[in-house]
Amino acid sequence: SQTLGELFANAGHRFAGNVAIVAHGRQRTFAEVVERGWRLAHALRERGLAPGDKVAAMLGNRVESFEVYVGLALGGYTAVHVNDRLTATEVDYVLSDSGARALVHTDGASGVAAQLALAPGLAAWFAIVDDAAPSGAESFDEALAVADSSPMPFGDDDEAIALIGYTSGTTGFPKGVLVSHRAVVGCVKLVPYAYRLPLQGHAAFPGGWSFVSGLWGVIFPHFYTGGTVSFIPGATPEEWGRHMVENGSTFTLGLTPLIPGLMAALQAHPQALDTLQSVLHSGGPLPAELAEGLVELIGDRLVETYGMTEVVGPITITNRTDWRGLGRARNIFESVGRPLPTSSMRVVDADGASLPDGEVGELVIAADTMFSGYHGQPDKTAAALRDGEYFTGDLGYRDEAGYFYLTGRAQDLIISGGANVYPAEVERVLLLMDEVADAAVFGLPDDRWGEAVSAAVVVAPGASLTEDAVRTFARGQLAGYKKPVHVFLVDALPRNASMKVMKHVLKDQIVDAHQ
Ligand code: AMP
Ligand code: MG
Repeated sequence: SQTLGELFANAGHRFAGNVAIVAHGRQRTFAEVVERGWRLAHALRERGLAPGDKVAAMLGNRVESFEVYVGLALGGYTAVHVNDRLTATEVDYVLSDSGARALVHTDGASGVAAQLALAPGLAAWFAIVDDAAPSGAESFDEALAVADSSPMPFGDDDEAIALIGYTSGTTGFPKGVLVSHRAVVGCVKLVPYAYRLPLQGHAAFPGGWSFVSGLWGVIFPHFYTGGTVSFIPGATPEEWGRHMVENGSTFTLGLTPLIPGLMAALQAHPQALDTLQSVLHSGGPLPAELAEGLVELIGDRLVETYGMTEVVGPITITNRTDWRGLGRARNIFESVGRPLPTSSMRVVDADGASLPDGEVGELVIAADTMFSGYHGQPDKTAAALRDGEYFTGDLGYRDEAGYFYLTGRAQDLIISGGANVYPAEVERVLLLMDEVADAAVFGLPDDRWGEAVSAAVVVAPGASLTEDAVRTFARGQLAGYKKPVHVFLVDALPRNASMKVMKHVLKDQIVDAHQ
């Protein structure tokens, strides 16, 4: 079957004159992206790299960032995705863990790259910058200008590793997720169907290069279908709405923290709904009240999906009919939908035995887009990937109609007096309070109960709130053993680059502050 490089080369021919990518007022056509991609592939070959070598890419939101990924795929290199928001120490960890032989980075990442202990040992180091490249680095543009642009033969091993994506690190050190050509190409071909992308559409993309799932979930699938991706991270609601109207956007992204801004954008520019075909939510819980408000505004355009880095792309999906009230889910606003035809999911107990519908257990997935293991971590791979099934660490259940519901993560599980408390459930309740802007629930050691349910709460701007008021509210909504024993009012929750609350960091902060 096809490699990612072949897929890019084919799309480059077929949609040559279309605009592939727009960022900061600059754009590149499909033909330009592929031509410059070949130049990068040759430039690396000339500096001693061979197919299969790893090349770290630490990229911000520039048109060149896409050329880098296309070039690495065309040349058969393994792209190591490095989140450009990482600190120098974290980048060092990722570079040495992955064994990258070359580094390509953009402006914003220069500060970090310049500090890298490893950089001098690299066979190639390209900086995509507006000013002077850091000492030791070559200018990307200059290297490309003199490189050959002729096509090279593609490899034919679809189990070769196309990409390594480092997981968000909500727990411990990041792990390198090995993604084969089979998995990434499978995802790129699945997404247009799953997210209802039209041919030659337009994505208003408020994400960025920081998230590896944005590559295979949004950027590559738009290239495959001849579409344009416009980068608009940090756009105000006014800019976002205007952008969608001016470009006839067919797709945009509504991660949970972005939804209030998206709703404001659409209220200010309702004409955007004339072209908008789907709005994707994924990556974390979507509070039911927020989902209801969004659906009131955008109707059945909402696409809710559940997935993770390890299973490359969407696992479950909601249908348009689900939001029209025609779905058979018990409560669609609490559900992540049903498995796509390319995946299957079961709910298991601690021994891995399947549980009946309605019972909460760990979600276990089989999928065509399965990762190939954690880089250099056979033990962690064997623990997570058993007989081809991925053990997600997520807890949830299936209803009689086949819809899935998430209730929390296995690691997050609080066991208080022998009873299991799922933090997501308590968080959902706390978020019902108008005065609460954000909330995270976790366990703190307790002599009597083993663990005590504890909540960190961010007070909404302009509101006032006491710890007692939170406890009283929760008491009215939750079984006694689930209500927070400890409540902490905090200024903000520590979130990682993928916007997930880092509960171990939060716990440390709270323990430190209250000693
Ligand atoms: P990541 O690999 O960083 O994308 O994180 C994947 C994790 O995010 C999953 O294991 C879930 O815990 C969580 N997640 C992903 N999608 C959803 C969703 N639709 N609703 C709730 N949690 C989600
Ligand atoms: Mg993860």
